[in-house]
Amino acid sequence: FPRAWPLPAGLSFPPKLNPLTSRHVAVIGAGAAGLVAARELGREGHRVVLFERGDQVGGTWVYTPKVESDPLGLDPRRTMVCSSLYKSLRTNLPREVMGFRDFPFVAKNDDVERDPRRFPGHREVLMYLKDFAEEFGIEKLVRFQTQVVYVGVVESGNKWKVRSKKRSGDNEVELDEIFDAVVVCNGHFSEPRIAEIPGIETWPGKQIHSHNYREPEPFQDQVVILIGSSASAVDISREIAGAAKEVHVASRSIVDENIGKQPGYDNMWLHPMIKSAHEDGSVIFQDGSVIVADVILHCTGYKYYFPFLETNGIVTMDDNRVGPLYKHVFPPALAPWLSFVGLPWKVIPFPLWELQSQWIAGLLSDRITLPSEEEMMADVNAFYSTLEVSCKPKRYTHQMPGLSQFEYDDWLAVQCGFLVSEGWRKEMYAYASKRKRTHPETYRDDWDDEDLILQAHHDFAKYLP
Ligand code: FAD
Repeated sequence: FPRAWPLPAGLSFPPKLNPLTSRHVAVIGAGAAGLVAARELGREGHRVVLFERGDQVGGTWVYTPKVESDPLGLDPRRTMVCSSLYKSLRTNLPREVMGFRDFPFVAKNDDVERDPRRFPGHREVLMYLKDFAEEFGIEKLVRFQTQVVYVGVVESGNKWKVRSKKRSGDNEVELDEIFDAVVVCNGHFSEPRIAEIPGIETWPGKQIHSHNYREPEPFQDQVVILIGSSASAVDISREIAGAAKEVHVASRSIVDENIGKQPGYDNMWLHPMIKSAHEDGSVIFQDGSVIVADVILHCTGYKYYFPFLETNGIVTMDDNRVGPLYKHVFPPALAPWLSFVGLPWKVIPFPLWELQSQWIAGLLSDRITLPSEEEMMADVNAFYSTLEVSCKPKRYTHQMPGLSQFEYDDWLAVQCGFLVSEGWRKEMYAYASKRKRTHPETYRDDWDDEDLILQAHHDFAKYLP
């Protein structure tokens, strides 16, 4: 990797006061987060090993028709599947906002294999990530089929032991190695969270989590209750309505006037949350309505999960809060030697992961510095207090609603020594989010933000051949 890579006009790094220090860094996971972390670390002169338990890069974008042995995804001994994609999935963000800043996600019209749509199918995203890995020579850093099973501080205190298991045919080879730093990029869409429903133990129907949803056919002529209101919940409910007898969507966050039969469908209803489930197959909603259902489909999100991480209690998980973490990345007591890329949600992931990675890489090479441990802890505590004051449960700690992610992006960029000047990305995201809410069926194929597309392409010209 070149140490001084070409920066677009207008961007400049602060003068390098110290020669850059090169560290030996383990990156866990070769999804979008791990790929960009490896690239940024490499650019900064670090020596990177990228561990990936699968056999290709791309993480969640590697679609598989396979599902887990436990459809709810709760049994710790289940056969695990990484991806949570359904077959028909198209992106819920326009490709212009989705891509990494200096590797635009533009349509490749010259290749029949590619999907040039603005909101392409999942395979196009995987191909984009593979292009990214190839362009920056990342594949050569990856150890495929190698699962990290333990990460902990070695006794002397300033290095990390990483234990991995490499699959080779029927054999498994275990290896312990020592690293200066570990960057955790293991994704957070594989460990399902499910809704708690009083009486569910005796309810005789089938339960499944959207992690294990692929196609609507298994729901043919069934009465389905779907819990959730995220982008995937909206897509899946509409898709299932084409096969199921009835679809009843239960959501915590619906407005009363929307309850009832959904316009445009003769077999879909919206309900408030479920109150209880019963032995006779009935499910009662909070407004007293009752449905006898065959299936409950939980589109209720995921849990952060780091089964390999041993920090002697320094990093904890509490109601899906990973903490304490300074700016969602560093546990103050272990910074910058342990970091997390990819925890924020309700965000545009790739460019945000890119900025987090640039920050980590610059800190590890001593080009930039962190506040003291005490100052970082004070910042974390102040952040937790603001969440409490606004009555936000801990599970929303890493959520960045509305346009707040852009303040975070800007803050990260300033730490790295530059400014992000992509007004179009913010406007396009705001516009796409609004259209997704108001036109859930058509927003992917019908838009009128051509002016923003032009601005984006003007920016992209800096990076395209
Ligand atoms: P992942 O892609 O999950 O990658 C993590 C990697 O770590 C995997 O390859 C896994 O095998 C590996 N790994 C895990 N544990 C270990 C271990 N112990 N040892 C070694 N390797 C390990 N984002 C968008 O930008 N646009 C969208 O339209 C969009 N739609 C989405 C739809 C769905 C249904 C879902 C679930 C997500 C969607 N996302 C979307 C978000 C998507 O998850 C992110 O874009 C991004 O791909 C996350 O990347 P990641 O690297 O953090 O995690």
